[in-house]
Amino acid sequence: MPVGGSDVCVDLEELGFYDDVRGDPVRVFRDTLELLTRGWPTPLVRLRSLSSGGYGVWAKLEWYNPFSFSVKDRVGWYMIKKILDKRALPERVFEATSTNTGMALAAMGAINGFRTRLYIPSGIQRASDVLLKALGAEVVRTGKPLTVDSIEDVRRAAEEEGAVHTNQFDNDANFMVHLRYTAKELDLQLRSKGIEVKGIIGGLGTSGHLSALAFYFKNRYAGLKVFGVQPAPGEKIPGIRRVETGMKWVHMIDLDGVIEVTQREAIEALISVARKDGILPGLSSGAVAAAYLKLRGEGALEEGDYVLVFPDNGLKYVEQLSRYLGEGA
Ligand code: PLP
Repeated sequence: MPVGGSDVCVDLEELGFYDDVRGDPVRVFRDTLELLTRGWPTPLVRLRSLSSGGYGVWAKLEWYNPFSFSVKDRVGWYMIKKILDKRALPERVFEATSTNTGMALAAMGAINGFRTRLYIPSGIQRASDVLLKALGAEVVRTGKPLTVDSIEDVRRAAEEEGAVHTNQFDNDANFMVHLRYTAKELDLQLRSKGIEVKGIIGGLGTSGHLSALAFYFKNRYAGLKVFGVQPAPGEKIPGIRRVETGMKWVHMIDLDGVIEVTQREAIEALISVARKDGILPGLSSGAVAAAYLKLRGEGALEEGDYVLVFPDNGLKYVEQLSRYLGEGA
């Protein structure tokens, strides 16, 4: 079934089978690009902290990507690949990012030889500037939240300075990479272990990854539910935004609900995963875990297995975690 909108018109059959999502079993790679694409699938792990009774919770750990330690490596890679497929290497790339897409693009710039300028919205931890600059990027703090207007500012700046604006918010390479790779590899992982999931829960930033997962899995598995997660009004959870701030692909699919989470709820959920499973998810991953707990608490989920997409881990969020745990934590 095709999904509407510009370049995003694809039959699921066109996606082919799984040959291109098989990683190297002994994990030796010729270069760092291969490390990304042949490092897939990212792990899927059952979490003891969230599974109980008839409920099994599987986290897809996107921080096992090598450049930004996040789901956004896929998008940075594919947006640049799509440019290179059509024309010469850009000299400069501009992008609005809450950090992760920026790190992925800076890495692609380092590998391919172009420069990046990254526009960071308000509410993002200072550590991001250090990480992005270490990867060779120029960093601009906009002092504004990420909205349609602030993305337009980046477009205008790119136009004036002759740079390429990759625009992850509108660039269908974002949706397509998750359809062609993230969704297919998750399906492969679940099938290979005979896990039949009842639902998938994920955060909404550009809406790229969750929309593609919803499109793929809802078309293949009747009755499967997909829930999105957004920050509660006035709350800041880096990487995710409220749907009304403007996102593209989420309007092409039918979500079964959008759950609101506060930063405190996200941190509490990530800490409870950390203290029972020994892994440290990031804030938006914590928000996804908190949303699962809310849905379960409300009796909205039938018994069975669920996949939670964890976009990155907690290492970028020491500032927020130390505020929560108390100074000197
Ligand atoms: N979580 C984190 C940490 C992110 O960086 C992002 C995107 O930047 C998301 C969630 C949301 O992902 P998407 O843009 O695919 O909606």
